[in-house]
Amino acid sequence: MKAIVVGAGIAGLVLARQLGLAGWRVELVEKSRGPRPDGYMMDFFGPGVEAAVRIGLYPRLEAVAYDVEAVEYVDPAGRATSRLDYHRFARLAGGKVLSLLRPDMERTALAALDDVPPDRVRLHYGARATQVRAGEDYAEVTVSPSGNTLRADVLIGADGIHSEVRAELYGPEPRFLRSLGMRAAAFIVSDAELSARIGNRFMLTDSIGRTAGLYGLRTDEVAALLVYQDSPEYPDSPGSGLLRERLRREFAGLGATVDRLLELCPERPYDDTVAQIVMPTWHKGRTVLAGDASGAVSLLAGQGGSLAIAGATLLAEILAPVESPKAIAPALLAFEQRWRPVVESAQASGRRAASAFLPANRAQRLVRRWTIQGTALPGIDRLVARRILRTIAK
Ligand SMILES: Cc1cc2nc3c(=O)[nH]c(=O)nc-3n(C[C@H](O)[C@H](O)[C@H](O)COP(=O)(O)OP(=O)(O)OC[C@H]3O[C@@H](n4cnc5c(N)ncnc54)[C@H](O)[C@@H]3O)c2cc1C
Repeated sequence: MKAIVVGAGIAGLVLARQLGLAGWRVELVEKSRGPRPDGYMMDFFGPGVEAAVRIGLYPRLEAVAYDVEAVEYVDPAGRATSRLDYHRFARLAGGKVLSLLRPDMERTALAALDDVPPDRVRLHYGARATQVRAGEDYAEVTVSPSGNTLRADVLIGADGIHSEVRAELYGPEPRFLRSLGMRAAAFIVSDAELSARIGNRFMLTDSIGRTAGLYGLRTDEVAALLVYQDSPEYPDSPGSGLLRERLRREFAGLGATVDRLLELCPERPYDDTVAQIVMPTWHKGRTVLAGDASGAVSLLAGQGGSLAIAGATLLAEILAPVESPKAIAPALLAFEQRWRPVVESAQASGRRAASAFLPANRAQRLVRRWTIQGTALPGIDRLVARRILRTIAK
């Protein structure tokens, strides 16, 4: 059997590997020229952990994970207003929680393609899927700039929140994109002094209506996440330098650490709307959507990587035994029936996590401080840890 997978993000790479290992031939097309370096730290827990263990990816992810000591909210002078001991929190929450940089997750999934016998998976970087067609007995995609057409038994759109496969098959993005009213920018800077100041903490500004988060990485680097309120005046792709100006304006006055970070901000950092994708159905004949393309939970839920791995693993497990084209449509239906409840539940907790991330007023900020401080109080610590985890996961 043969599959076309559009998008070599985490979902697409895991799908291609698992289908390849099951004996399928896979054409994996990715519009970027190589693995994408953008993204910040993601908490890896929940369904993705179980799936990663099952497919042998967990130890490789563990090897690139960061050891975050604490989550600390600070005032403009750099004084902690609340602190969560991360190791203790993970223990109390009762599960495996890894802190992974998004590009490290993607590179790990890419390296794992080497487990597949040669010629089963062909990865085409710099190949953008433009037109998708599906007939009774085939699915087809045209890629740019080569103009080549690829044909297979099934086509999987794993091309992210702004999926072009989804737009081709189901219509324009606004029909399915539910904005959470915020934007998030992420970038990595190199500065020994800043990195030493942050150390192994996830440092966040205890501010209202905007939050800057910083992680100290290996080798003098700092990963930044800037979350701010969206505005109709903010286009998705502003001209050169304008995005950096926007971020400098939005995050002014949050103290010396954030000022230094903004000095080093690249001209065009990764910046996207914080949104979810909600669709009535994800499959149609010989085609199906996976990962963020069908059910993005939002950047702030921090769960995109976990769900991408778990969903891709499940889809590959359901497709693996398929030997006749007739069995494809029922397999895609079975996938959607099993996976939809998990995605919907993660989306509900993703919406709660987003509002906790950006308090709108002093009262909401106070509630966040109390919640975090509760993790240090014996007796209620376990309760609070579970509550926080329920907010960000399920
Ligand atoms: C640059 C970037 C940074 C991110 N940063 C974070 C983060 O810091 N924290 C977080 O929680 N989530 C982040 N995300 C989202 C996170 O990666 C996803 O939620 C999760 O990994 C699920 O991934 P996915 O494979 O479904 O989609 P994605 O990771 O979005 O991957 C989709 C892939 O499809 C490719 N693609 C898109 N259109 C086409 C096309 N027409 N033809 C071929 N290829 C196409 C894209 O280039 C991309 O590589 C980021 C995503 C990207 C792309």
